Amino acid sequence: MKLVTFDDGAGPRVGVLAADGAVVDVSGAAGETMLDVVEAGEAGLDSIRAALGSSPVLPERSLRLLAPIMPRNNVMAVGRNYHDHAKEFSASGFDASEKKMIPDHPIIFTKAVSSIVGPGDAIDTSMDPTGTSDYEGELGVVIGTGGHRIAATGAMAHVFGYTVVNDVTARTLQAQHVQFFIGKSAATFCPMGPCIVTADEIGDIGAARLRTTVNGESRQDAPISDLIFDIPTLIEAISAAVRLQPGDVIATGTPSGVGIGFDPPVYLRPGDTVEVSIDGIGTLTNPVV
Ligand code: MG
Repeated sequence: MKLVTFDDGAGPRVGVLAADGAVVDVSGAAGETMLDVVEAGEAGLDSIRAALGSSPVLPERSLRLLAPIMPRNNVMAVGRNYHDHAKEFSASGFDASEKKMIPDHPIIFTKAVSSIVGPGDAIDTSMDPTGTSDYEGELGVVIGTGGHRIAATGAMAHVFGYTVVNDVTARTLQAQHVQFFIGKSAATFCPMGPCIVTADEIGDIGAARLRTTVNGESRQDAPISDLIFDIPTLIEAISAAVRLQPGDVIATGTPSGVGIGFDPPVYLRPGDTVEVSIDGIGTLTNPVV
């Protein structure tokens, strides 16, 4: 199922996205918010499936999709997690202090919940005082059952589903402050959506491709299987210390083709449109202002 959070003027609710863009309003079947649905687990999904046939269908034009989930915790994100992007980043001279192109352990940082926006919402580059806003198309993993010290071998059982994240970054702030938090957390710098695809529906996520375009021009195109640290490894590494909670989102890193990889760098400008697509999930489109 493709689950969405939508607003038709009567407040945010949970729905199921149909192929034609219509949304079946299943609010209440498994709670009021996506967090409720995630916490309800398999039983919640069964309730939604059972409600599908008798729930109102709302046409696409009558509603607005919001970010599918607002996690309790910051969005957890992974730096330099595609082989090609690690090379590109190293070649850009961005971080001259880094001795190793491929890190020994996943680089984990977080993005503030207040940076999350939905599909169609504007990325506001005026929030970045340095004028170096860049896109990073990424696969987002939504945690279902939480846990502490989750072993990689059983980690996929903790995945509720998948979404698309644009890890928008103020490059100069990212470089200036050592820790990435400020450069990654400006308001509107975490577009997410358009939906969460439940894990059962997607099958082998490694087989999916991620593509990013800016104004229709191809910038990123890579298979998810190019990840340096795969999803089970990331869940094991993070949960070694952090107790993951239902609804937590892990942005798994970006492939090559980001703006800072160009010479000279090509940053986002007002008037641009960024689209990030992942097979089986959908396209996250955001204008830039
Ligand atoms: Mg990133």
